[in-house]
Amino acid sequence: MIFKKFVDSVFSAFSKIDEEFYEELEEALIMGDIGVEATDTILEELRNKVKEARVTTPEDCKKLLKESIKEQMEVRDDAYDFEEGRAVLLVIGVNGVGKTTTIGKLASQYKDAGKKVLLAAADTFRAAATEQLKTWAERAGAGMISAAEGADPGSVIFDAVSAAKARGVDVLICDTAGRLHNKRGLMDELGKLNRIIDKELADVKKETLVVLDATTGQNALAQAREFSEVTDVTGVILTKMDGTAKGGIAVAIEAELHLPVKYIGVGEGVSDLKRFDADDFVERLFA
Ligand code: GDP
Repeated sequence: MIFKKFVDSVFSAFSKIDEEFYEELEEALIMGDIGVEATDTILEELRNKVKEARVTTPEDCKKLLKESIKEQMEVRDDAYDFEEGRAVLLVIGVNGVGKTTTIGKLASQYKDAGKKVLLAAADTFRAAATEQLKTWAERAGAGMISAAEGADPGSVIFDAVSAAKARGVDVLICDTAGRLHNKRGLMDELGKLNRIIDKELADVKKETLVVLDATTGQNALAQAREFSEVTDVTGVILTKMDGTAKGGIAVAIEAELHLPVKYIGVGEGVSDLKRFDADDFVERLFA
């Protein structure tokens, strides 16, 4: 990983831990997409740890750096589990981030786990998105509720919720529009969809997942921040992690926004969606 290269170059260039070392390390972490705010926090923690443990060698310091990063990612909360009961997932994200593909992968994985899956094509602004989603639904063997282009997303959700109840669906995955250029409009629309779901499926676990493209780095962080301002986001899915060598964006999202990364996309295929494991992820950053 490039991240490791950035970090290793600092550790190998310095034989003692001084101000210059910290400055270089700061630059390396920011280059690895960890973000300014999270980097500041991580380095502050690292300085404390170094002092406390009286560490003098860069090698020991590296262990403490790993620890400091892991601590910033302790926002874990339970992702919807295959074993659990019913769930409704509201999936949001701007066009092109991989939202449709991710919904397809999720549908397929839940289906493989023996769940009855229904998709709701509530991004009614894009006819092509509905078509694409239909292909994924068919491939996964999931049902799908859709409407004509321009239809009211609320009515799609209402129909989907009714169908989910009637058919005894385990997981209802809702594709929703994610245009950010009108924050108020998006807030109102998501509010409406949430009210329908909360009323009709009150006893069902609900997740609002933001899909972000990891290759867009700090831009993805900005999107996550904006979405969490308009609705109650419960988790993040980072796509295209196979296409970025930096990866630190996952740290930035958890450390700065306190949102758990729940899944990562690692390719275009149906099985290329993995549960995110923060510890394992940090180990790999250094591996
Ligand atoms: P949407 O506009 O957000 O619905 O995006 P799509 O689902 O249509 O995906 C946009 C492009 O990104 C497609 O070519 C997908 O195959 C690709 N894509 C989605 N997720 C991943 C991923 O995890 N890795 C890679 N390499 N490509 C992905």
